[in-house]
Amino acid sequence: MTRYDLIIRGGYVIDGTGAPAFKADIGVVEDTIVKLGDLSNCSADLVINAEGMYVCPGFIDIHNHSDLSIFKVPTADNYVLQGVTTIVIGNCGSSPAPVTEKNKDLVREFMWGLEASDFPVKWRSFSEYLSKLDLLKKSINVAALVGHGTVRSAVLGAEDIKASERELKEMALLIDDAMKSGAFGMSLGLIYVPSMFADFNELTYLSKAVAKYGGLLAVHMRDEGQGLIDSVIEVITIAKETGVKLEISHLKAVGKANWGKAATALRIIEEYASRGLDVSADAYPYEASSTFLSAILPKWVREGGTPALLSKLSNPEVVEKLKVDLIREGIMGSRRLEWSDIMISSSLSHRDIEGLRLSEVASRWGTDPLSAAVKILLDDRGLTEMVVFGMNEEEVAEVISHPLVAISSDGLVQLPSKSKPHPRNYGAFPRVIAAYVREKKVLSLPEAIRKMTSLPARKLGLWDRGIIRPRFKADLVIFDFNSIKDNATYLNPHSYPTGIKAVVINGVVVVEEGRHTGSLPGKLLRFCA
Ligand SMILES: [Zn+2]
Repeated sequence: MTRYDLIIRGGYVIDGTGAPAFKADIGVVEDTIVKLGDLSNCSADLVINAEGMYVCPGFIDIHNHSDLSIFKVPTADNYVLQGVTTIVIGNCGSSPAPVTEKNKDLVREFMWGLEASDFPVKWRSFSEYLSKLDLLKKSINVAALVGHGTVRSAVLGAEDIKASERELKEMALLIDDAMKSGAFGMSLGLIYVPSMFADFNELTYLSKAVAKYGGLLAVHMRDEGQGLIDSVIEVITIAKETGVKLEISHLKAVGKANWGKAATALRIIEEYASRGLDVSADAYPYEASSTFLSAILPKWVREGGTPALLSKLSNPEVVEKLKVDLIREGIMGSRRLEWSDIMISSSLSHRDIEGLRLSEVASRWGTDPLSAAVKILLDDRGLTEMVVFGMNEEEVAEVISHPLVAISSDGLVQLPSKSKPHPRNYGAFPRVIAAYVREKKVLSLPEAIRKMTSLPARKLGLWDRGIIRPRFKADLVIFDFNSIKDNATYLNPHSYPTGIKAVVINGVVVVEEGRHTGSLPGKLLRFCA
């Protein structure tokens, strides 16, 4: 009689490939799945009864921002309780390494989460940062990308300048070093300082350093509004010219005037994918997005990083010029938002306005919305975060259900706090099953699971995760289809999902009956070229 460390008995297995469910027991030894089938004659140290439930691979969040917050909350509660077993950090052009004299004061500013702003950055190279992550005892697996914005700032600071040949080489060397130490690729954040200052030549040059290793280029595009299609063409051209694997991050069309453009983007992605280009996308299942409040301002105000932004905003003449600019160019550029589309989600100095729209803040304070935004930004030293209600429900459903789109959260490990972070931080993955499979019925369950497991695993080159199969790592989720549900909302976001019975990471039970066990079996995953 074979003995296992763990047997999951009697569940319906959805293996992550998109294939229909089948009934099977799963036998695990140490951190690996070793057997699928009838194990009724076998015993194990631990048996989980999955009768009447589904068992699927652990969810892989290909777009995550927990680069520093994982050190603060290594149990990653808001992710493992969703069934996420691997997060990919270093997205949107921002990673906390490499650090040089040029960017040592900037690097924390690039990081999401207010608590990141006082985090002690005690590393220089990307490999030193990875070693710290490796040593950290954590619940969840972590894979990292190197951020182009961070690399650019390490060589050029936060100024809007063109890189010389020598500076391009310097940046390529930093990327090469990150890839050698285990980065899965590079991310671009083309709406953020300083990634936004890179021209096509720079992006192509640096993408070659990633393509050389077979790494991934994950792109927050230049424009998710009016210029969305041009932005898609820009990044597809980079992929065509360099051979880099391309992941379009959080694909969406923001602003009413731009609705329909994400659907067009999908047609373009399909066309190039069918011709053999390795291009795909990811998205989160919500009609609102979230980022720093400063992103609503035009490029000329943000150039130079936060200190420059704050000194400009302190000048009344600049604010007058901004008023004219925002009327002409639109709030958040071509997205052309309304002030009522913008909710303050996190403000350290004004906790009482968290959850309010900028239009509401303005009338409460007896001022106009731009002046209110400027005051909040100045008081928060530029670190205010917002939630933006700018997407179309049907279009989000079309993106979420497209076969080339993986599910991501675009969130980060959270401490339950007073702020109102986007609910995607707590509910993105269960929400796909609850809202898009069970309620809207735009996706089958095996297809939804594939988009959270084998699709991102293949894209990353994680060849031993994302599928339930012997010799694959035992990252598993056991859930009840009828009751799985995200409970986080925009006004009450710190709320965990229900309906997830157990989560196993590297063969260890991390969630049991919906509660965190405190186990820390997570691993730093390194890319092997
Ligand atoms: Zn982004």
